[in-house]
Amino acid sequence: MAKKALITGITGQDGSYLAELLLEKGYKVYGLRRRTSTPIMVNIEHIKDEIEFIDGDLLDQGSLVQAMKQSNPDEVYNLAAQSFVATSWAQPGITGQATGVGVTNMLEAVRYIKPEARFYQASSSEMFGKVVETPQKETTPFYPRSPYGVAKVYGHWITVNYRESFDMYACSGILFNHESPRRGVEFVTRKVTDAVARIKLGMQKELRMGNLDAKRDWGFAGDYVKAMWLMLQQDQPDDYVISTGETHTVEELVQIAFDHVGLNWRDYVVIDPKFVRPAEVDLLLGDCTKAKEKLGWELEVGFEQLVKMMVDSDLKRLQ
Ligand code: GDP
Repeated sequence: MAKKALITGITGQDGSYLAELLLEKGYKVYGLRRRTSTPIMVNIEHIKDEIEFIDGDLLDQGSLVQAMKQSNPDEVYNLAAQSFVATSWAQPGITGQATGVGVTNMLEAVRYIKPEARFYQASSSEMFGKVVETPQKETTPFYPRSPYGVAKVYGHWITVNYRESFDMYACSGILFNHESPRRGVEFVTRKVTDAVARIKLGMQKELRMGNLDAKRDWGFAGDYVKAMWLMLQQDQPDDYVISTGETHTVEELVQIAFDHVGLNWRDYVVIDPKFVRPAEVDLLLGDCTKAKEKLGWELEVGFEQLVKMMVDSDLKRLQ
């Protein structure tokens, strides 16, 4: 019998790569989808006929219970969230409900309907925030710096708590920033690569940016979803940091992207205070030794390759 997986957030970047991976592995894939007047299916257009969609919302407990009943999954991947840090200051309440309490709602649905199902929670390096040690690993204390980070800390601990309280196979994957051509254009990597392509093609004149000094540990989303799957295939549930172990500034990102199309970034980038955040995460650098050793997880795409892949993809799309 084919294994069954339920993915929340299936229309997002990670949901789409994970669905591809699970379909390749022969899973029957169910996707929880939030109803919108204009469905946003661009990331999964190519596989949508192979996915069984269930309408639901992390904020609606009944819909999650129904999704669990309908899919009867072996594995549940909770990727849905209000996932953009900057928006979390404008909508802290919704962020707390979806990104935080939504995890409890999903865990409760699993516990009521199929407690033996394996559960993956999409935790985030934003939980480390104003980092208390570098590099950050599983044992590093959290110090979130945004309503998003605060909500993710709640989601992490409620996952750990359900594992310890109810003996559920629940894992928290602490993923550092991971990007791809399917990243939303509000995130810095995609914002830059999309703008570089537009500038190169004469469709845009400048690129307005916030803090260029922030440092991130950026990997490729396609590599990171493999780690999610591996976490649910072990003898024991546990939490893992997934990262590249390299950090780069936003300025380096900008430079690599402009260099790739033969332009000098200093001629186009304008600093706009609108994109500077009320509180910043200055530096993220992950230590994923545990994931490499225990899961045998390997990274395939490095930072430069990732940025170039994203610029090329935006050029191709816009041309
Ligand atoms: P995050 O790490 O989840 O907040 O991912 P983002 O891609 O949204 O932001 C990464 C970093 O880029 C943060 O430190 C931002 O402050 C910085 N940054 C600088 N300029 C911009 C910008 O114009 N847009 C975004 N999204 N981030 C920017």
